Amino acid sequence: MGFGCMRLPTAGGRIDVDAAEKLIVSAVQRGVNYLDTAYIYNGSEATLGEIFARNPGLRDKVNVATKLPISRCQAQEDFDKYLSRSLERLKADHVDYYLVHNVTSAGAWERLEELGIEEWVSRQKEAGRIGQIGFSYHGPEADFPVLLDSYDWDFCQIQYNYLNEHYQAGTAGLEAAAKRGVPVVVMEPLLGGKLAGELPRAAKAVLERAGISADPVRLALRWVWNHPEVTLVLSGMNTMEQLDQNIETADGASPCSLAAEEVRAIEMARESIAKSYRVPCTGCGYCLPCPKGVNIPMCFAAYNASFAHGWYQGMQQYITASGAMEGKARFAGDCVQCGACLQKCPQHIDIPQELFRVKRRLQIPGLPAIVRMGTRVITR
Ligand code: SF4
Ligand code: SF4
Repeated sequence: MGFGCMRLPTAGGRIDVDAAEKLIVSAVQRGVNYLDTAYIYNGSEATLGEIFARNPGLRDKVNVATKLPISRCQAQEDFDKYLSRSLERLKADHVDYYLVHNVTSAGAWERLEELGIEEWVSRQKEAGRIGQIGFSYHGPEADFPVLLDSYDWDFCQIQYNYLNEHYQAGTAGLEAAAKRGVPVVVMEPLLGGKLAGELPRAAKAVLERAGISADPVRLALRWVWNHPEVTLVLSGMNTMEQLDQNIETADGASPCSLAAEEVRAIEMARESIAKSYRVPCTGCGYCLPCPKGVNIPMCFAAYNASFAHGWYQGMQQYITASGAMEGKARFAGDCVQCGACLQKCPQHIDIPQELFRVKRRLQIPGLPAIVRMGTRVITR
């Protein structure tokens, strides 16, 4: 199990460095030795750098993975610039695992080849600034093997969980990588927490009928670890309770260890989860900030919840998503379809179109005015 550092604990809207330190030090003490961050994870690299500075010797006990923001790279100098900045933030002279971040097609890699990335990676490896080179993938299933064969990769990283067997790289991609001897790091085993929270009523009923009482997190993680082709599973943890639970699960999980009835129950529950999971948003936040202040992932979470747990619960979440309590209510209907978010979404969601659906389902006439008036009264 690796520690995913995209969603570190926060306080007052910023990363809570003390809380993150407690978690990471505890995780390392208990055997976690892989920390995954990225240049674009707001404040994450610098937080890890600060934690390493506060804890002499910690850096040498872990493998650090970070990622090159390829969408910002237009020339080979940009590769240098972003790696150097990552190293500065991490207060380190090398990264153990460096990923080309968010490759969405075979063509995206071809563009980097034209910029000379292969020769650049060789130089960085020789200089000891990069240990292993890999890529994180969010493209179509068909392009994944093409990409695997395009370069001599040390490892790859894919989104994989029991709801995404046929989405992006999927099971076919996992098996293709294993066949080529390329180790696979799995991200989003809980689909941005969607498989961690309360499962939709129908899915819970299916599991209960099958006599499976395992909690959703444990079930979802064990499903991923059940695949012998998986090398490492990343989990973003931001409380000690989550860390304890995941370590306990990891200790008891090994390939092919799920009982046949557990696998069957997950397969049956998957169908009902998929039905209520209308927008495949993982909550990564890459699309933010929206110039109109729309909290895109929270709008989608509310929309999905309205199918999974009932319209009323979705509506409650939608009002929270609007930021009303912070006195700046913004709704899905505030989207002006500028398109600024579109290229940033690794799930390729047509955000303006989906926000329109959110508006249609949850934004009852007059809601923004009522919420804004209510907020004024409460905060007066
Ligand atoms: S398209 Fe809509 S949601 Fe996306 S950035 Fe523009 S206003 Fe915001
Ligand atoms: S809409 Fe896309 S980019 Fe935005 S949070 Fe969801 S998955 Fe991430």
